[in-house]
Amino acid sequence: MRFLIENNKIFPQKFTSNGSLRISQFPIIPQPALKPEFSYNPALQQFLTGKQLLFEDIPFPFDEIQTHYENGYITYRKGIEYQGKLPVCTRCGNKDPQLFGAFQCARCGETCIYCRHCIMMGRISECTPLFGWNGPEPDTELPAKIMGWSGTLSAGQQLASDQVVEAILQNKEWLVWAVCGAGKTEVLFAGIEAALAATKRICIAAPRTDVVLELAPRLKSAFPDIEIAVLYGGSEDRHVYAPLTIATTHQLLRFYHAFDAIILDEVDAFPYTVEESLQHAAIHARKSESALIYLSATPNQK
Ligand SMILES: [Zn+2]
Ligand SMILES: [Zn+2]
Repeated sequence: MRFLIENNKIFPQKFTSNGSLRISQFPIIPQPALKPEFSYNPALQQFLTGKQLLFEDIPFPFDEIQTHYENGYITYRKGIEYQGKLPVCTRCGNKDPQLFGAFQCARCGETCIYCRHCIMMGRISECTPLFGWNGPEPDTELPAKIMGWSGTLSAGQQLASDQVVEAILQNKEWLVWAVCGAGKTEVLFAGIEAALAATKRICIAAPRTDVVLELAPRLKSAFPDIEIAVLYGGSEDRHVYAPLTIATTHQLLRFYHAFDAIILDEVDAFPYTVEESLQHAAIHARKSESALIYLSATPNQK
């Protein structure tokens, strides 16, 4: 895909000969102002809110995406940015020159540099825009009773639970020590309830799919009337907009400024600590005003 700038907007072009550029070649991508009178597509809003997706991830025609961009409702970002002459992947933060490749690209008609590091989530190259939502967020309706769990916590767990609530409500960064495996998830329940009650969008991210699969039914039974998106490689909830998301840390790479609170489970476990791109993912998936809670069993040496 190539673009031309006209009237402070970019427009897609099919041919290479007319002065068009790849998206990474624009110094700044103009963002049209939001036009309140434009009637946006709520399905597209649900789909794109808090995301950064490739065109092939989005089941809507390009013309519709472009119209939403021209009316200020969709953002286009560069898939690959340059720091000096060195490419940086916008999605995963990869800066290692050895983790970029080059190919003859049919979309832009040139040799295109692409990120090899996050290619399992679809190829990002110099001509790849990342699409996001710039309009209002979808409304979420809350059930009368948010939490169905009514168990009790030990004194130590209660203290940790109170700290999680406070961190979430005050947008703090907080490290919670899990004293032992038992009751670790229950320590989060009050914080999740408080976040949902305050119409915050919350995500619990864990390094491995098996942890996500184990957490999901426990959260579904604690919050029976809340829609929960469960995201891992190959999961069917990939495009569900939900107030509560449980995801592998890898899946956070598809989110951008999405969550008011992120809880990172097992921050000491492989592969989170060894994978800087997953830290990048968590940072980018947060809103600028948000809480980040680390759940750990052992101190990180870093
Ligand atoms: Zn290309
Ligand atoms: Zn990448």
